[in-house]
Amino acid sequence: MPSERTQPDAPIFALASGAGRAAIAVMRLTGAGCGEILRHLCGTLPTPRRATLSGLRHASGDAAPILLDRALVLWFPGPNSYTGEDSAELHLHAGPAVITAVADALVALGARPAEPGEFTRRAFMNGRLDLIEAEGIADLIDAETEAQRRQALEQADGTLSRLYDEWATRLRTTLAHQEALIDFPDEDLPPEIEQALLNELRALTHEMRAHLDDGGRGERLRRGLLFAIVGVPNVGKSSLLNALADRDVAIVSPRAGTTRDAIEVRVVLGDVPVTLIDTAGLRETEDEIEAEGVRRALFHVKQADCVIGMFDGDTPPADLPANAILVRNKIDLTPTTKSPHGAIAISVHDGTGLAQLTEILANRARALTAAQAGPPLTRARHRAAIEESASHLAAALDMHWPEMRGEDMRLAMRALGRLTGAVGVEDLLDTVFGQFCIGK
Ligand code: GDP
Repeated sequence: MPSERTQPDAPIFALASGAGRAAIAVMRLTGAGCGEILRHLCGTLPTPRRATLSGLRHASGDAAPILLDRALVLWFPGPNSYTGEDSAELHLHAGPAVITAVADALVALGARPAEPGEFTRRAFMNGRLDLIEAEGIADLIDAETEAQRRQALEQADGTLSRLYDEWATRLRTTLAHQEALIDFPDEDLPPEIEQALLNELRALTHEMRAHLDDGGRGERLRRGLLFAIVGVPNVGKSSLLNALADRDVAIVSPRAGTTRDAIEVRVVLGDVPVTLIDTAGLRETEDEIEAEGVRRALFHVKQADCVIGMFDGDTPPADLPANAILVRNKIDLTPTTKSPHGAIAISVHDGTGLAQLTEILANRARALTAAQAGPPLTRARHRAAIEESASHLAAALDMHWPEMRGEDMRLAMRALGRLTGAVGVEDLLDTVFGQFCIGK
């Protein structure tokens, strides 16, 4: 983006509404000169923050201006706008020809199409939100379930940022005290200062570790869970997957070894998106393609948040993780009230036990993502930064030389600063904002 280097607030535009046939399309515009562009299109500048019906007119070349659309126009003069810059929204009739005509006019008037996430990136650059809040907005746009929506909205609203900011503020104060100890070693500073400082470092390290030690709950809820169904061929894994997904995704066949590769389907269990994987049967095989399927099955078992071990006789699959959910299928063929190994007895065929199994799976999904005290950690990026900060604090606690301890504390501070975007994050921005859609 060469123009960005010279003019970081150059006017940009994008459709904020989705593609596809619709009644209204929202065209968003932000940057320097936005007011001029709007005045040109509408004839006058609408009252700020008031929906105004206006004809949009533009002349190409020397021709007389033509009416492009009659639209609802919103004018948000900076700095009280999403991006902090002069911004506007045009609520157009959503026909492709209308959108193209308005986009062409905007380009002719000096604006250019926005990159993905560019509106939010400008909001960050202008101090309207920090990186954590920006990531919360990206998650809110992607949220599929109520639990994900709640988590993302809290983050976008700054709950998580407040926690990290509070740590940073406390660390900054502690560092100031440490620097006083470095700068005035011979003065009679009260000995409590060093003790209080060490206590605060201990408390911060403890709080960070507790936040990290959440079993990945927030991260799991954000990205969804992976449940793998494993078991020897023909026990009914594909049938179960189809039943849980309520549609025929997997090929069900009486011939052993039909599912050659993992088949995935996304369902919602306990308000958490769950990818169910029906793996190839785990068995010794001469068939090369099937052997590859078996290798992949083992890989999925390692990756899975929960393994569903399925069997149809008395012997559950071997080598399952301790917390696997055991399911004994085909009880219509051998009716029994006993379930070996605490397995849930079901028959995919006649539906026996399916509701109970669904509830057990939903409970597991909820338990894996259940909120704990305080806002949850939601991304690997945050985890890495807090781990880094906590390990510098632990090193500071072990360090007796004041200068060296101060240096460890500064490094801990820097890691926290990168978290919210307060310091040195240029290299991160493309990654953070690249995941947004265009128009946000
Ligand atoms: P997979 O190889 O483990 O994926 O097993 P499939 O789902 O392909 O099922 C193998 C065979 O068992 C098919 O013929 C199914 O119709 C049958 N089957 C699946 N579930 C049941 C059940 O609950 N009862 C009975 N009687 N047959 C079942």
